[in-house]
Amino acid sequence: MGYGRGVMDADVLPGPNSPLPPPFSALTAEVHEARMRRALRQAALAAEAGEVPVGAVIYHRDRLVAQAFNQTRTLKDPTAHAEMLAITQAASALGDWRLLDCALYVTLEPCAMCSGAIVLARIPLVVWGAPDPQRGGAVSCFQILDSPQLNHRPALLGGVLQDECSTLLLDFFKSRRTANHDHPTTEVPPP
Ligand SMILES: [Zn+2]
Repeated sequence: MGYGRGVMDADVLPGPNSPLPPPFSALTAEVHEARMRRALRQAALAAEAGEVPVGAVIYHRDRLVAQAFNQTRTLKDPTAHAEMLAITQAASALGDWRLLDCALYVTLEPCAMCSGAIVLARIPLVVWGAPDPQRGGAVSCFQILDSPQLNHRPALLGGVLQDECSTLLLDFFKSRRTANHDHPTTEVPPP
């Protein structure tokens, strides 16, 4: 499992960095929340598919250019995190590997892999919902999105619709534990 662990005991994360640089400083809290709700709808689709519910969307200025949800199980691909799929979609839509003037919204703090991809794509704004204190690659566990050693440091905004994003993950893991308890033989025993 790529992401999800650690969010269970998540309760604190960096609040919004303030203020955001222009042009993002013009975005209201309502805009950030509306965009995060769209990411949450993607996360719900992941849950329906039995995937760890994480969703991501990317806006180029005011235009939605990507939306995706975690599909690591479905695609049998450990790199198929919501952010990775969304970054590929956005690059294709824009015809450029640099996602300039783009904002990525994701329901869970990006992991180390996705944070690395965000740096490579030069995404200027990253917004997330739930923190991931144990695995978060943006600022929590590793500070990949806030490192002076890297050539790109996006503006960051954490905790947008945090409760809803966390609840979706917590409910998913809770229901999965219950399912495992009801059907213990469905889990492959350790070697
Ligand atoms: Zn990731």
